[in-house]
Amino acid sequence: MSDPNCIFCKIASKQIPAFIVYEDEQVVAFKDISPQVPVHVLIVPRLHLAGLDALTEAHRELVGHIALVAQQLAKELGVTTRGYRLVANCGPDAGQTVFHLHFHLLGGAPMAGKMV
Ligand code: AMP
Ligand code: ZN
Repeated sequence: MSDPNCIFCKIASKQIPAFIVYEDEQVVAFKDISPQVPVHVLIVPRLHLAGLDALTEAHRELVGHIALVAQQLAKELGVTTRGYRLVANCGPDAGQTVFHLHFHLLGGAPMAGKMV
């Protein structure tokens, strides 16, 4: 299920271009268009879900899969030793701007301060 007005659904279905670094049946990972650190990749499910709040028990395996894809990509992109972050913004206080569930994989430089 995809949303015809959703930019990440369009990237996942290759209707609009992105620098895809990984894809499988469940997820697509591509470079963020406005990188905040040298390695800034977005991992998104092919399924359109508006965000973390849209997850249900049915998505338990999907979220675990995304975490393992993030771990694998961190290795491939060379940020495992120095470290990385996996971040999902949900809702206005968190600054979510695209309402298709996505996880930011961030690394390659020290990140300013600890978020938590
Ligand atoms: P968030 O603020 O957590 O919703 O993150 C949305 C992210 O999507 C931002 O970091 C944007 O730079 C990124 N973004 C928006 N449009 C595109 C696009 N067409 N290709 C790649 N990244 C995008
Ligand atoms: Zn979508």
